Amino acid sequence: MDVKKQWSESEARRVEAHVKRTRERLRDLADRYIALEGHIPAGGRRGGGDVPAFHAPAGPRAPLRVEVVDVRDEVALYVRDFLPRVRLSMRLKGITRGAGDVRPGLLFMARMLPFVYARSAALGDEISRGAWDLERRAAWAAGEVPRPFALTDPCGGCGLHSLWVVPERMVIRCGNPACGRQESVSGVSVTVASQPGRLTLRV
Ligand SMILES: [Zn+2]
Repeated sequence: MDVKKQWSESEARRVEAHVKRTRERLRDLADRYIALEGHIPAGGRRGGGDVPAFHAPAGPRAPLRVEVVDVRDEVALYVRDFLPRVRLSMRLKGITRGAGDVRPGLLFMARMLPFVYARSAALGDEISRGAWDLERRAAWAAGEVPRPFALTDPCGGCGLHSLWVVPERMVIRCGNPACGRQESVSGVSVTVASQPGRLTLRV
């Protein structure tokens, strides 16, 4: 296998892993959007796409928290801005049920993300940036500190399984002190300086 092919295959894997992670953020954001409605922290859950088991408070409602309302408004705006662009890039015509609803919109975007990336990495990255940013802000609004979590993918720099996502700072960091590689969580267009060339995408 020649070097170029090897490189493009590793790039394809990188994009695939990024898309998978970002779909999880979109699904988490969809859950948080609902959870925040009752000012209930959605914490402790990660991965998976199932509907969260959250419970309405039995007691009196908590006082209105402006940051919660703000984040929810921004999530709604995000869906309003990007859903039509996703549909356009997928050449989907007509009106779907619940097209304007936030949670179904987010879940739809999560489903479509691999196909969006296959058509436009730039649009995919814009969606990713918003998803990662809003998800951490929704966590803050729920009174949580987004915690770092480990990735199963090997580090592109040193090859060790030592990658961590640090959501608070929106970066992926290698925990190997000898390597210390760091990249943005929010996109695949930003390639590291040592790997120039064009992105080959196969999703
Ligand atoms: Zn490394």
